[in-house]
Amino acid sequence: MSRTDTHEITRQQTSGLLGFDAHFPQAMTAALFPEAAHDALHLDGMLTSGERSMRERVRKYMETEVAPVISSFWEKAEFPFQLVPGFAKLNLAGGGIKGYGCPDLSLMESAMAVIEISRVDCSMSTFLLVHSYLAMLTIGLLGSEQQKQELLPKLAKFEFIGCWALTEPSNGSDASALQCTATKVPGGWMIDGRKRWIGNGTFADVTVVWARNSETHQVNAFIVRKGTPGFKTEKIENKIALRCVQNADMTFHRCFVSDSDRLTGVDSFKDTNKVLAISRVMVAWQPVGAAMGVYDVAARYIKQREQFGTPLASFQLIQERMARMLGTVQAMFLMAHRLTKLHEEGRMTHEQASLVKAWNTLRCREVVSLGREVLGGNGIVTDYNIAKAFCDIEAFYSYEGTYDVNMLVAGRGITGISAIKASSGKAFKSKL
Ligand SMILES: Cc1cc2nc3c(=O)[nH]c(=O)nc-3n(C[C@H](O)[C@H](O)[C@H](O)COP(=O)(O)OP(=O)(O)OC[C@H]3O[C@@H](n4cnc5c(N)ncnc54)[C@H](O)[C@@H]3O)c2cc1C
Repeated sequence: MSRTDTHEITRQQTSGLLGFDAHFPQAMTAALFPEAAHDALHLDGMLTSGERSMRERVRKYMETEVAPVISSFWEKAEFPFQLVPGFAKLNLAGGGIKGYGCPDLSLMESAMAVIEISRVDCSMSTFLLVHSYLAMLTIGLLGSEQQKQELLPKLAKFEFIGCWALTEPSNGSDASALQCTATKVPGGWMIDGRKRWIGNGTFADVTVVWARNSETHQVNAFIVRKGTPGFKTEKIENKIALRCVQNADMTFHRCFVSDSDRLTGVDSFKDTNKVLAISRVMVAWQPVGAAMGVYDVAARYIKQREQFGTPLASFQLIQERMARMLGTVQAMFLMAHRLTKLHEEGRMTHEQASLVKAWNTLRCREVVSLGREVLGGNGIVTDYNIAKAFCDIEAFYSYEGTYDVNMLVAGRGITGISAIKASSGKAFKSKL
């Protein structure tokens, strides 16, 4: 059956959802996701057959299983638990971790999965990245053999869900000054403090928590399991971005963690960089996928929607916007592709990762704005995907290092001077 036939059947099955009512002539919504139209420069030719087949596999799942239902979850700010078994079958969790039931993917294969997920829904890509490229990766890189054997196989199958708790209410960009403490007691550690913004945090089985050792004052990491006495989570409400992701405020009050749940590979805050160096590459791909999805929806819309007796596609100003979006999407792909190759070759620097993450989120803001304009009023309706991406990209812009902080890391690379800590600010604060 051709893709067009499949579309026709799905269109009939979901009629009413799609806005093809003769009394309200509109264009198709993204419940039936458009064909990919964004690869003008045949950048797929840069991929290996394995990378391309990963793209196809994940694209099919996202278009057929996720696109028809995801907007309603997004609107209700609910996590789509019903999609997790299908997601698990894609065998993506654990990314490049070897063994322990993980798929041992190359970084580029994982990236191809991330763009296809983000193309349809940014929340689902964040769900995967927090679970796989923050929680699992930390355990895989810095956990003990016992921790890996116990947790990674369950996390790889999504029998357990993971989250990663670094940010605190008073320490976002300034995470290295985190205040949560870990105090040694017989048989384990007592964790006290608060965390904020933790993705998957309301329902995760396993939370990787970064806390300051009260004795050495160095940052250590611990595994806290769901239901541990003294550990509470509360959903952050009223978000306008990534509404399916359940971000939590967390409180640890005399929360006991046994010695066996300390991540022995972590000696200091610098160890977070071992994880973030890889996860930031993945985050640099998220805006690429979001921008591709926006372009693809707009490319179909302008052919279906007519004004002044002709499709929008025939207007010069629409064509200019489409061409600008397309050029930017291709450039974003090339930036992220090069970064990933540098990582695979062992040559990537933090400055390069920060530059590409920040630049791609900035450019994605431009693409989603142009797409939103091209759709007119429907550009603010979540059914057409672009409004959802328009909001979601704001989280990409601010997490895993804000745009500013990543640009300052890149700026440090250019000048050799760090402008991240502003000394004059302390003098200002003392006058208040
Ligand atoms: C949807 C979402 C999901 C998240 N998921 C997680 C998670 O799973 N785990 C986790 O640990 N954290 C998570 N975070 C936290 C995220 O990493 C922080 O939000 C981010 O580091 C920024 O911190 P902040 O929000 O406190 O902003 P702040 O640090 O308060 O920054 C506010 C503003 O000041 C600017 N600024 C700060 N410092 C400087 C500087 N030195 N120079 C110039 N400008 C500066 C920033 O760029 C920003 O514009 C998530 C955040 C969001 C929004």
